[in-house]
Amino acid sequence: MTTTQASSAPLHFVDPRHFKANTREAVDDAHLRASFRSAMDFLQSKRAAHFGDTAAFERLRGVGEAIRKYSLSRLPDLLEQLEQSLGERGVQVHWAATPAEANAIFLALAREHGAKGMIKGKSMVSEEIELNHRMAEHGIDCLESDMGEYIVQLAGERPSHIIMPAIHKTKQQIAELFAQQIPDTPYTEDVDALIAIGRRVLRNEFRDAAIGVSGVNFMVAETGSLVLVENEGNGRMCTTVPDVHIAITGIEKVVERFEHVLPLFSLLTRSATGQAVTTYLNVITGPRRPGELDGPKQVHLILLDNGRSQAYADTDFRATLQCIRCGACMNHCPVYARIGGLAYGTTYPGPIGAIISPHLLGLEPTQDLPTASSLCGACSEVCPVGIPIPELLMQLRRAAKHEPEPGHAPLAGQASAKDWKEALAWRGWAWLNEHPRLYRAAMGLGHRLRWLTPPWQGGWTAHRTPLKLAPRGLRDRLKDELRDGPRD
Ligand code: SF4
Repeated sequence: MTTTQASSAPLHFVDPRHFKANTREAVDDAHLRASFRSAMDFLQSKRAAHFGDTAAFERLRGVGEAIRKYSLSRLPDLLEQLEQSLGERGVQVHWAATPAEANAIFLALAREHGAKGMIKGKSMVSEEIELNHRMAEHGIDCLESDMGEYIVQLAGERPSHIIMPAIHKTKQQIAELFAQQIPDTPYTEDVDALIAIGRRVLRNEFRDAAIGVSGVNFMVAETGSLVLVENEGNGRMCTTVPDVHIAITGIEKVVERFEHVLPLFSLLTRSATGQAVTTYLNVITGPRRPGELDGPKQVHLILLDNGRSQAYADTDFRATLQCIRCGACMNHCPVYARIGGLAYGTTYPGPIGAIISPHLLGLEPTQDLPTASSLCGACSEVCPVGIPIPELLMQLRRAAKHEPEPGHAPLAGQASAKDWKEALAWRGWAWLNEHPRLYRAAMGLGHRLRWLTPPWQGGWTAHRTPLKLAPRGLRDRLKDELRDGPRD
C-alpha cells in the first residue's frame, strides 16, 4: 500500500447534522417539491411497466436476494479469489480502509504518471471519498464526464440522486449554468443542444486526460472481471481512452460467478431506470494486451471498506450490503419525494442512505436519518434484492439511543442520541401500560388538558383536528353495538 498521504480532514460536503434544518427548508420550497414529485412519478411508472407481472418480479427478486446473500456469506473468500484472478489478468488491486487511504492511492498513482487531471465516469464511491476535492487540494483536476455529474460539478453541488445526479435541476437552470460557466456558450433550453454542448467539452478532455476513473457495479471473483453498467458511453471512454484506468468500488460488490451478474443486471436496470438493458454493459478484464489497438496500459482497482466491514460484522446490518444501488427505494419513498436528495447531507440519500450512512459516518452525525421514514414499507416492497429497510431503520433508531445488546458489536457512535429524560418517560409509559385503570384515567386527563400544551410543542398536532371523546352514554352504546350488532 502506498504511503503518500492525502488529506484526512473532514469531508467537505457530507454533513448530515443539518438534516432537520435542511428538511424544513426543502418542504417550504414548493418548486423543489413539485419537480421531485414529477420526477419520482416518472421513474415509478417506468419501473412499474417492467414489473407488471408481480409473480415474475418476486421470482427474479428471490434469485437476486439469494445471490447477494450467498456472495456476502463468502465475502472474505471471494475478495481473496478476486484479488488473485485480477492479478493474473494484470489488474493491480489496492485496499483502502478509509476515504483518506483511497485518496492517498489516487494521489500516488497520479504523481507516478505525472497526471495533472483525471476524467471520471459515474462513481458514487468516488463521491463518498470526495475525490474531486481531495485531488484539487493537490493541484489535480477531476472532471466528471457523466452528464448529470458534469452539471452538478459545474454548479458546485452534490448529486441529489444516486442514479440521476442532477434530477433537482430544471432545463432552464442548466441552460443558465452552461451559458455562465462554459465559454462561448449561448443560452438555450433545447435539451439536445445542451447535451451537444456538454459532449463537445468532454470529448476533448477524454483525449487529453492521463487517467480515467470509473466505478464498478459488479466484480466477478472467478473470472476477475469488472462489470460497469451505463447509458452514456462515457464509462467506456473513461476506461479505454486514457493510458491508466483506476476503478474504485466498495468491498461488497463482489459475486462468485459470471452467471450471478445477469439476474442482478436485469434487476438493476429495470429498478433504476425502467430499462430492460442499458445502452452499455462494459466487462473489463485487464489492461491492453500485446497486439490490441486500444485500451489502457494499466488498470487499478481500489477496494474501499469505509465502515462496510462494521456492517458486515453484524448479522442483521449485513443485509445493508446486499444493495445494488438501483435507487428504487428513493424513487418510492414519500419522504425523499418531498425533500429531495440534498437535504440529507450525505452521499447516499433516501432510504438506502439512511441505512448505509450510519456505517460510513457513524451514528453520531447520522442519528436523525433513520427517523426520516414513515415506515410505510414502500422501499422494501420495491427493493430488488429484498433488503428489509424498515426493520433496519428501526434497529438503527434503537442503536442511536441504546448501548449494544449482548453479542452485538457496537456501531460507531452507538447510543450517541441517548437521552435520560426520554428513557425515563418511556419507562413511565411502560409502567402505565401495565396498570389499565391508571392508563385510562391518565389518557382521559391528558385529553382534557390538551389545551394546556404550549404552542411550540404542538408541531405534530398543529395541522390535525383532535378527535373528540364521545360522551359516556354514546361510548357504551357503541360498545354494545360492536358486541351485539346494530340496534333498530
Ligand atoms: S436498498 Fe434496494 S432499492 Fe434501495 S438502492 Fe439498494 S438495492 Fe436499490
